Amino acid sequence: MPSSHLVFDEWEDLYADRVEHLRRSAVRDLFAAISRPNVIGLSGGSPDISSLPLDEVAECAKRVVTENGLKSLQYGGSDGRIETRAMVAGMLAEDGIHVDPDEIIITGGSQQALDFMGRVFINPGDKIIVEGPSYLGALQAFSAYQPDVEVVPMDDEGMRMDALEETLKRLGPRGAKFIYTIPNFQNPAGVTMTLERRKRLLELAHEYDIQVIEDDPYGRLRFEGEHIAPLKSMDPNVIYLGTTSKIFAPGLRLAWCVAPKPVLAKINLCEQGASLCCSAFNQILAEQYFTNTDWKGTLVKSRAIYRSRRDAMISALEEFFPPEATWTHPEGGLFVYVTLPPYFDTEQMMSAALENGVAYVPGTNCFPDGQGRSSMRLAFSYEPEDKIREGIRRLSEVIADRMEL
Ligand code: PMP
Repeated sequence: MPSSHLVFDEWEDLYADRVEHLRRSAVRDLFAAISRPNVIGLSGGSPDISSLPLDEVAECAKRVVTENGLKSLQYGGSDGRIETRAMVAGMLAEDGIHVDPDEIIITGGSQQALDFMGRVFINPGDKIIVEGPSYLGALQAFSAYQPDVEVVPMDDEGMRMDALEETLKRLGPRGAKFIYTIPNFQNPAGVTMTLERRKRLLELAHEYDIQVIEDDPYGRLRFEGEHIAPLKSMDPNVIYLGTTSKIFAPGLRLAWCVAPKPVLAKINLCEQGASLCCSAFNQILAEQYFTNTDWKGTLVKSRAIYRSRRDAMISALEEFFPPEATWTHPEGGLFVYVTLPPYFDTEQMMSAALENGVAYVPGTNCFPDGQGRSSMRLAFSYEPEDKIREGIRRLSEVIADRMEL
């Protein structure tokens, strides 16, 4: 725990109630730990951006100013540049999502869009439905708005539709504000929702009149298996989040949200209040990058890297982890989710793991309600193969020390 938590806080009585409800990001905290020398970072989900053609990106950055002049350094509209939105519409069309640029808003990362989802939809005590486990950054963003979170379990085919149906029956029509799902290479589970389940999810959402939010940062990171149509391509009412973070550069903080127009108008108000508008410079840089470089060729290289790192992680798990452990087999994305026997406490085990030179995300961070105690998220995105293997070996020592025979 950071030392600031232990210090007397003379501002305590000034804080709004919502601050009480903010979750810490374990990953942000762990960033400090991984930056210690000798710790192998299997915790953070930073993409590998080593395939980026830096010279070309520099050229793009230069053209932002030479071709656009002062416009690139000025405020812009809260929706985002029409040119950027038109480009995004073109990219979405390749995925079967046919929308107008004015159904799109540009946001400062999908993370900001997630915060806006909370701001637009959640009153304190409102039900929302998430997958269990779910993206810890989404749980963190939503927590500020004090929802009552219903967790629907997953299996290898994604969110379990029998469990979702049970939840929806219990809550009744419009009984929850939204269902939040990450259908592709889910963070943290690494699993992908099958087409049948996607269809069923939309049927159920329709039957119970519940909004669906589809978060899809990893859709273009498939390195194995068949592409599956996004929910948004099958139902225009779905709210869809996409981002440049995993297909270009997370440092840009540039993403998009596609939503029905009345919802978009509310999100626009959030954008006005939060940041006025996204950086014009970064939007034009993205336009330059996605128009004038072979970004798809660059992605082919990134996917090859992820694939061999996934292979390195899975074979190290097979080699070193005890037979009682289970893990997922992602066909894309950045994460493997490991479940240990139920008596394990991966949160408590973390300090021993760090001591032994390896970091991961304890599963409890990916649930709003204390589940996930015996599981962990392992990212294969960042460290090279030999480090991944060594990291898994180190972790297996910590686990072996705690196995009940
Ligand atoms: N959603 C999911 C599922 C994520 O995994 C992440 C980032 N790891 C985000 C949203 C945030 O992405 P961005 O960088 O666009 O804010």
